[in-house]
Amino acid sequence: MPTALLWFRRDLRLGDHPALLAARDAAGPDGDVVPVFVLDDRLWRPSGEPRRRFLLDCLAALDADLDGALVLRSGDPARVLPQLARETGATSVHVSSDAGPYGRRRDDAVESALGDVPLVRTGSPYAVTPGRVTKRDGTPFQVFSPFARAWREHGWRAPAPRAEVRWRTGVASDAPPPGPDLDGVALPPAGERAALSAWARFRDERLLGYADGRNTPGADGTSRMSAYLKYGCVHPRTLLADLAAAEQSESVRRYGDELAWREFYADVLWHRPESAREYLKPELQTMGYDDGPHAEELVRAWETGRTGFPIVDAGMRQLLGEAYVHNRVRMIVASFLVKDLHQEWTLGARYFMRHLVDGDLASNNHGWQWVAGTGTDASPYYRIFNPVTQGRKFDPDGAYVKRWVPELRGLAPEHVHEPWTAPGGIPTGYPQPVVDHAHERQVSLDRYARVRGR
Ligand SMILES: Cc1cc2nc3c(=O)[nH]c(=O)nc-3n(C[C@H](O)[C@H](O)[C@H](O)COP(=O)(O)OP(=O)(O)OC[C@H]3O[C@@H](n4cnc5c(N)ncnc54)[C@H](O)[C@@H]3O)c2cc1C
Repeated sequence: MPTALLWFRRDLRLGDHPALLAARDAAGPDGDVVPVFVLDDRLWRPSGEPRRRFLLDCLAALDADLDGALVLRSGDPARVLPQLARETGATSVHVSSDAGPYGRRRDDAVESALGDVPLVRTGSPYAVTPGRVTKRDGTPFQVFSPFARAWREHGWRAPAPRAEVRWRTGVASDAPPPGPDLDGVALPPAGERAALSAWARFRDERLLGYADGRNTPGADGTSRMSAYLKYGCVHPRTLLADLAAAEQSESVRRYGDELAWREFYADVLWHRPESAREYLKPELQTMGYDDGPHAEELVRAWETGRTGFPIVDAGMRQLLGEAYVHNRVRMIVASFLVKDLHQEWTLGARYFMRHLVDGDLASNNHGWQWVAGTGTDASPYYRIFNPVTQGRKFDPDGAYVKRWVPELRGLAPEHVHEPWTAPGGIPTGYPQPVVDHAHERQVSLDRYARVRGR
């Protein structure tokens, strides 16, 4: 009986899944498909506990949707997959392609280890496969807006239809590793069904107000689809098809643009794999960053949400409480670490990757480079977020700060972002600001001017 393997990675769903259709077609009407996930230590170890928990929960949901057929194997995919192909008599292995640096190397290694059994790549976790949208002369885009225009012009396929597949049952599976106990961190419900119902709720109830609501961290104005997109519980094409069917508005266009940012960063990473770790503007690495015991103490205050700047502390406490931070606040806390505490963006990017449930190498590390002003994009270094002004503008009633910083709940809105101006002084238990923002801003600008002047 013809058998195909479907190797799940960042596509933990059964709907809108071109590689699944390719596996079914390869198996033919009389064949079956073995669904497998390989727990690879190279990805598991650096994931951080929220993503490990979320991944295990997504796998459990997928297994339930497959009526228990999902095969879980642990180890190096280049060893595990040829072994499983031999065991099951599979004549092809199907995947959605991976655009990340490790994923590409791993897939090449698996391909050669499989020998005569082809590794068939169909589709990717993106509407347009990274690397495909280029300038007319074939070189990659450096800047978001022209990329987004070309990306829309390129277009994408309609969602793939759901398919009946005969899944092989009874193939031996390894026991899943013990899931980390998150000690109260509130993660979103996992899996494809949860993703689709979260999306339907957002589309029907909040998409209309997205253009205004997306920048207000105290309101529930964004879709919270990032963790689902990260693990492929839903494909962006499914979301884009709903956007195309919706009445066109600024909000609909804006949401499409945000998905385009995700595709842009994946494209940058595809062309410049080293940009996950290295400065895209290397000269800024020589700016001079702070170290020593005092700098470490300041970093610790940032990590634990005790800088004395309410919007920064609220963001860092949201990160620890929900493994998620609102986009506006990600920018504010990132700017604070790099430009007020004079730390390299790589330190913050690593901390985020350890704690975010949606932690994604391309979006996270390029998001950090964007804020640090070290990325490809037009983001001048001298754009430095003022945490007080940002707080007042985007959290005017202090709802976000009060949700995450209980010490400040008793303050009137006009004092929430500057508790040192409150009539009774800074509330007990809340720290004094750890730095003087105006001074640190100038330090950053001076260091930048020195690098520029060299
Ligand atoms: C320093 C920093 C680090 C970040 N790290 C990550 C990360 O690890 N993983 C991640 O998915 N996003 C990251 N982002 C982007 C953005 O903050 C999140 O995607 C967004 O907050 C997720 O919430 P949402 O799903 O409600 O977003 P929505 O506003 O509902 O947006 C819809 C989707 O569009 C995509 N998107 C939106 N904004 C961006 C953006 N700026 N860059 C790339 N994609 C975007 C996401 O897939 C998101 O789910 C980072 C941004 C910054 C500034």
